[in-house]
Amino acid sequence: MIKMQIVIATENLHKLNELQAILPSSFPDGSSIIYTGMQSFSLTLPPETGTSLQENAQLKAVYVARQTGLPAISDDTGLEVDFLNGAPGIYTARYAGEHGNAQANNQKLLAALKDVPMPQRTARFRTVACLAYPNGKTVLFEGTAEGHIAQSYSGKNGFGYDPIFIVTATNKTFAQMSPEEKNALSHRARAFKKLAQYVKENPTF
Ligand code: IMP
Repeated sequence: MIKMQIVIATENLHKLNELQAILPSSFPDGSSIIYTGMQSFSLTLPPETGTSLQENAQLKAVYVARQTGLPAISDDTGLEVDFLNGAPGIYTARYAGEHGNAQANNQKLLAALKDVPMPQRTARFRTVACLAYPNGKTVLFEGTAEGHIAQSYSGKNGFGYDPIFIVTATNKTFAQMSPEEKNALSHRARAFKKLAQYVKENPTF
């Protein structure tokens, strides 16, 4: 039976809320993991200067684990559009230039796919989650969600590209799903469920 505290290395409150909902905090054997945000540590994440999702996830989690002395987890997510040869990929957050401007990013993507028929609008979200221990050890986990880029916006939930990403498994955009529906099959949920299981089986560092 273990009791652990893990810091979630993100400045994105939507992501923090999703992760706190996704990650199991208690286990049948009585083990428990408390996940805390970064608010109590007054830290600013380093810039995402990596050349892959893996590197960006690692640099955030390693920094927070070293600074706090606690295990830390982070993710980096990319949207890969097949018609655009995998773009925006690692540039997903700043596709339209300014970091995290979802409206501009979505408009740029819809414009890039103007007149492209549905069968050729296939895409996937790919999340790489990183668990970093204070001693520098890291472990990576991956999750994907397959879908299509819609021709227009649908739905009000979620964040980022959710209103224009139609999930193959449900034929709805992520923004048309409740948080519970999204968290049952999202790229991030798939990666972090693997991570949580690993933490439970490997509690020492
Ligand atoms: P990052 O992992 O925070 O760097 O996210 C990269 C970009 O992908 C940001 O623009 C996010 O808004 C977008 N993004 C990440 N996860 C999701 C998601 O679950 N739905 C929609 N957009 C997402």
